[in-house]
Amino acid sequence: MVDGKTNLTGIFGYPLEHSMSPLMHNACFLAHKLNYCYVPLRVKPGMLKDAVNAVKVLGFRGINVTIPYKVEMLNYVDELSHEAEYIGAVNTIVIENNRIKGFNTDAPGFIASLRAKSVEIKNKKVLVLGAGGAARAVCCGLLTENAKQVMVAARNQKKINEFVARFLTLGNITGCLLESEEYLQSLQECDIVVNCTPIGMFPHNSECLPIPWNLINTKACVCDLVYNPLKTAFLSKAEEYGLKTIGGLGMLVYQGSIAFEMWTGVKPDNSIMLKTVEQELLKQFAGT
Ligand code: NAP
Repeated sequence: MVDGKTNLTGIFGYPLEHSMSPLMHNACFLAHKLNYCYVPLRVKPGMLKDAVNAVKVLGFRGINVTIPYKVEMLNYVDELSHEAEYIGAVNTIVIENNRIKGFNTDAPGFIASLRAKSVEIKNKKVLVLGAGGAARAVCCGLLTENAKQVMVAARNQKKINEFVARFLTLGNITGCLLESEEYLQSLQECDIVVNCTPIGMFPHNSECLPIPWNLINTKACVCDLVYNPLKTAFLSKAEEYGLKTIGGLGMLVYQGSIAFEMWTGVKPDNSIMLKTVEQELLKQFAGT
């Protein structure tokens, strides 16, 4: 129930129709009996600065930031976490005493999703597919957790070079083109493979990165950041080859869970967030 004492939180993005965050956070506020509310804030192009001023004036506690504003948000924070600085994107802000602190909870969210499935990162070799925003968060998390080597494979050499340069001071990172010799070598040696491209995302469910599955290390854990569908064609194929798999739902939930704790001071019951999003996605699929 919203009343005069309700604390406000929400999400900036455009469009926001498919965001799971309002459902996930509101279910958790309710379960923890916290007088908080989370609202979708559709910020039209060119209006981010005004939107930031508005939530400051209106006394919001915090905001999530999603596509297309994660990078632009860097311009409007008073303080920035190390992770957000490395990644070059903000997905969560906390508003305190009229000051805005910017964070990126995607990196620790991804790491938490691996930990939840007992996947070790320290001293492991990881192959990251794609060199966009989500790949930056994943690499930041992996290098911070002392992965032995991170190889970023993508289709554009210039983007690969810029990507690698961003993280050189954090640890051992190299890059290669998809389908190159180095890429094939990395597939054979890696302990973890992470799809950070949108390939296979609804409505393109049957699409999958062309992976020579027979080459891949049989002990590798295969992760996909895509969570819609919950099991992508990429993960189904990995399962066919007997590989351990992790979908993107965990990362979505843990990045939200970390933001929730920043705003409320309460560690949420992650299973509530998980169940809420899972049920909603299954419902959406039943209707397609
Ligand atoms: P992005 O910034 O647009 O980056 C996408 C990357 O994928 C780019 O490197 C792009 O290459 C590459 N790519 C796209 N299509 C490709 C293809 N056909 N072949 C090879 N490479 C291709 O997107 P993002 O923000 O990183 O998001 C990527 C995915 O992660 C999305 O599906 C998103 O929903 C998901 N995600 C999930 C979570 C979670 O919580 N689970 C969080 C963040 C993102 P070019 O640069 O060459 O185009």
